[in-house]
Amino acid sequence: MTDTAIRDQIVRFGKSIFDRGLTAGSSGNISVRVDDGWLMTPTGSSLGSLDPAKISKLDDRGKHVGGDAPTKESFLHVAMYEQRPKAGAVVHLHSVHSVAVSCMAEVDPADVLPPLTAYYVMRVGTLPLVPYFAPGDLDLAKAVRAMASKHHAVLLANHGPVVAGTSLEDAVYATEELEETARLYLLLRDMRTRPLTAEQIADLRKRFPIKV
Ligand SMILES: [Zn+2]
Repeated sequence: MTDTAIRDQIVRFGKSIFDRGLTAGSSGNISVRVDDGWLMTPTGSSLGSLDPAKISKLDDRGKHVGGDAPTKESFLHVAMYEQRPKAGAVVHLHSVHSVAVSCMAEVDPADVLPPLTAYYVMRVGTLPLVPYFAPGDLDLAKAVRAMASKHHAVLLANHGPVVAGTSLEDAVYATEELEETARLYLLLRDMRTRPLTAEQIADLRKRFPIKV
């Protein structure tokens, strides 16, 4: 894909995410790996009204070389790419149900959500909780880096998900699957549920290995 086509794709997915209320205000950010670096949504921008010409361009060492300044959360994306050479895109949202689950006291920090559906297992798998750090605290980058080598999706406590994919489409769909599963989890909280069994999960892993 050309640089122009990727910029248009970021604008299109950004608007779709915003229009469906999956992140509000100027929250959430998207990055895509390109031949000579990265394209990233700018700081202070709303995913609902991105300007393709203003999308930040970073070179292959992460230096800002074009467009507006990148999101202040760029370090989350960089930490993911550093640990996952196959990652082609990273999506970070403040999606309500995922954030709600990230604030709950009684979740398993090693794997926050139960394996409720096959698509969640195929697109997300396990989801560790990254402890809370204040915005801009570089220890957050350290904590994400430590988990990203083993997980392409993590949930930041009291904040939201960070998800890598082989492509932007892949990363967006995985983030949406995570958000929908968080919603299901909250809907089902007071009911007895029947999550997938270890055997069913192992079978899915074999048929549909996670590629990122
Ligand atoms: Zn954030």
